[in-house]
Amino acid sequence: METQAEVRDVVIIGSGCAGLTAAIYAARANLKPLVIRGVHAGGQLSLTTLVENFPGFPQGVQGPELIELMYKQANEFGAEFMEGNVTTADLSRHPFRLELESARVAAKTLIIAAGASAKLLGLESERRLLGHGVSTCATCDGYFFRNKTVAVVGGGDTAAEDALFLTRYAKEVNVVHRRDQLRASKIMQDRLQRNGKIQFVWNSVVEHILDPDQRQVSAIKLRNVLTEEQTLKPVDGVFIGIGHEPNSKLFRGQLEMDDLGYLITVDGSKTKVPGVFAAGDVQDRVYRQAITAAGSGCKAAIDAERFLESEG
Ligand code: NAP
Repeated sequence: METQAEVRDVVIIGSGCAGLTAAIYAARANLKPLVIRGVHAGGQLSLTTLVENFPGFPQGVQGPELIELMYKQANEFGAEFMEGNVTTADLSRHPFRLELESARVAAKTLIIAAGASAKLLGLESERRLLGHGVSTCATCDGYFFRNKTVAVVGGGDTAAEDALFLTRYAKEVNVVHRRDQLRASKIMQDRLQRNGKIQFVWNSVVEHILDPDQRQVSAIKLRNVLTEEQTLKPVDGVFIGIGHEPNSKLFRGQLEMDDLGYLITVDGSKTKVPGVFAAGDVQDRVYRQAITAAGSGCKAAIDAERFLESEG
């Protein structure tokens, strides 16, 4: 027989900037939100270093500290937290049903703030060397590359931030970009250009990472996309900073999403299923900033509160 899950007013999937902001608002509205914290608890802010563009912190604030402050604030107002990953979500009946590895949850309203995860190049060698010299998190793994030579793949703000962070440890940081112009913000580009440890490998893509059989990184095979010339560059580590993809797989077939998998919201944070709202990077392919994620988390909590009021 199916065990009955307690029905919550508001369940929030995700504990990054969007999820925690939604939790603060919903908790202050006395809705006792339940926040489900998955493997990437704290979201992308918890994997970053100094955040300089979050209003209210003129000297900047460390990403993990900002997340910790938001967590405390949500906790203070009565938000509850559950650890675990949602394995299935049934949005076809109300209350909605979620299954975690070792728990069941039912929700009158659901706020999806599941964020986005780092994208990979898709190479077999990359997959086999992940955690053995290939990383998607410079702040987590940079420390292991003291006085070593590393490569950072990508040309956006993530790659720029990773490259700068890695100069604290590595003796040489090679930014490998598929074009000859960075996508990163101007201020980050300037910092990269000024840093003597950073070198650029333009118009190039990584075709292979050596050596999976040795279980360690020793070099990258590069292809210049203009000349087709192939070169071997010895490196000790490879950081992939080519962007993120939304964590929306659970909702495929149940919610509308765009060609990249971002959830589609209308009229604030509403999805096409009444009572289901989305906030943060899982629904934002344009701005993807901490402050916009926080703003959309706020909207989702207010929309959930209004939905509950309208349902009586
Ligand atoms: P992004 O802006 O989408 O940049 C991804 C980069 O990776 C691009 O340069 C892209 O090349 C390259 N790329 C994508 N797929 C690739 C592939 N398969 N092979 C090789 N290169 C590939 O992603 P992001 O850097 O993660 O930034 C996402 C958003 O977060 C942006 O809005 C950014 O401003 C924001 N962000 C802000 C901060 C900050 O303010 N401190 C920090 C991190 C991120 P092309 O340029 O050729 O497309």
